[in-house]
Amino acid sequence: MTTNRVRKGVIRGRMAASGESYVVAARRMAVPRGAKAPDAQTAAALRTRYWEPAESLDLPCPCGGTCAPGERCARCHATFRHVARVPGSRVDVEAWQDRYDCTGCAATHSFVVTLPDRPWGVVRTIPQRAGRDPIVRVEPFEGIGHPDPPR
Ligand SMILES: [Zn+2]
Ligand SMILES: [Zn+2]
Repeated sequence: MTTNRVRKGVIRGRMAASGESYVVAARRMAVPRGAKAPDAQTAAALRTRYWEPAESLDLPCPCGGTCAPGERCARCHATFRHVARVPGSRVDVEAWQDRYDCTGCAATHSFVVTLPDRPWGVVRTIPQRAGRDPIVRVEPFEGIGHPDPPR
């Protein structure tokens, strides 16, 4: 079979390049499901989503995007700190919800920001048979951990 011959050729090439045995080279060629390296957009979204809050308000916020820390708490007059960013919509992939915690008391507040260059997912339009409207589906990137995932 041609496909098989091509595959064997690729494995032999890998063996020659890496010094692996045929069995090892063949096994490593098979990419496990869900284990592929994230693409650039996914990586950017994961960086936007997962970070540790800044230790001090003198340091730049590690969220890497638009945020508004430094607001004063009405209750204790300490400063609010940006502590989390999660997808902030089920349909708008550019909407992120930012949470701010007071550094002096238990006060907290959140609001949604729009980051057009940092979507948390993709919008796919799936064509249907003639006469039917296409289905629009919102898919969060793998690993993004949407708090209220679109169905
Ligand atoms: Zn921030
Ligand atoms: Zn406070």
